[in-house]
Amino acid sequence: MRIAPTLILTAFAALAACAPATSTSIAAAPRPATAIMDTVSIRALVGQLDLERYKATIKGLTQFGDRRQGTARNRAAIDWIETQLKSYGCTNTERITYNYQIDTTRARTAAQRSRLPTTAPGGAKIRGNVAPIGVNNDSLAQPDPRLRALNTEQTVSGERQEVYCTKVGTTHPDEMYIVGGHMDGIGWGEAANDDGSGTALVMEIARILSAPNVTTDRSIRFILWNNEESGLDGARAYVAQRQALQGKESPAGSGKYPEPRWLGMIQHDMMMFDHGMPLADHTVRKEQRLEADVNIEFQSNSKMADESQKLAWIFANANEKFATDYPATVGRHMTNTDSTPFMDIVASISLRENERGAHIGAGWDPNWHQPTDMYSTYSDKDFRLGLNAAQTTLAAIAQLTGAKILDKVSNRY
Ligand SMILES: [Zn+2]
Repeated sequence: MRIAPTLILTAFAALAACAPATSTSIAAAPRPATAIMDTVSIRALVGQLDLERYKATIKGLTQFGDRRQGTARNRAAIDWIETQLKSYGCTNTERITYNYQIDTTRARTAAQRSRLPTTAPGGAKIRGNVAPIGVNNDSLAQPDPRLRALNTEQTVSGERQEVYCTKVGTTHPDEMYIVGGHMDGIGWGEAANDDGSGTALVMEIARILSAPNVTTDRSIRFILWNNEESGLDGARAYVAQRQALQGKESPAGSGKYPEPRWLGMIQHDMMMFDHGMPLADHTVRKEQRLEADVNIEFQSNSKMADESQKLAWIFANANEKFATDYPATVGRHMTNTDSTPFMDIVASISLRENERGAHIGAGWDPNWHQPTDMYSTYSDKDFRLGLNAAQTTLAAIAQLTGAKILDKVSNRY
């Protein structure tokens, strides 16, 4: 089709105004003509997120204790997640299989919450009061004998798996966004927040977008990483095995793309607890702070920093428009989570309850890697922060992939 020169100019001006100048890795913003329709669809999708359902999915994950990688309880959790994904209609589940050898030089030796931090990872800077951080490796620190027994089996080197399913795009099945959270945990608790909260978020979004009356132009892969706590090994295995497969049609002529080209990677890791800076005595307030927010981070010291920052602002804007309770804040020090192995390849961000470096790294979450990371530790105000992160990601990803809901009455979008 030929286009009149004035239209080309208009289109070019619009593109220049709203699209990333240097990147083709982020889908262009929705066209004005479809913006109202998009808003209606996105609002309807986001409205399907429900606090009690989100809590129930977290609760379901906690039946497998801390889900430590390389244990039977971790494998049982993967089976359970896969069954859930299939039941949601995300039936094309697949698994990445890799081998993980325990690196004793990397093993954490701190047996309790013992270290007062002075520096933060990811380029961040610690300010103000700090509280002790560390990983609990002491079974006796878990007072509940049922959980102590459930978490008794320790990890051994060997084969590992992680599960994903994919919403296949109708017009661009060869391109996808990756939406992830890690399903493994540590600390002799239930890993309810780290990272049951992120895993449940990914699962709930998969459920809503897998409904038969929902279509997306581009594909979305929902993945629950394993081995995050050992050093992002599940995400690293995914990149190593699948980076080179991107965008290849297989079998040729089938219209099937086993690994669609990556457009962005969005990680969710610890979504619920934002009680503020520790007090001077190293304790943390009991209640969610009134100013709690969703922290969207990109890594300024990465090859895809520009593209990642643009993706972060798309999520911040989606939060402002569609999240019901808590705002989002963008930061530049994304670190120590499964988006890290992607950040030099594709636009990559993480969503969290706090910034990983300056906040979590300064002891703002007293349940982090501790026996107290249990479902019963959290209040609805905590769970609701996770739900708002889910609203943020669902709205942003629906916009980026052109999600539409087929109206059951009219049979039209
Ligand atoms: Zn985590």
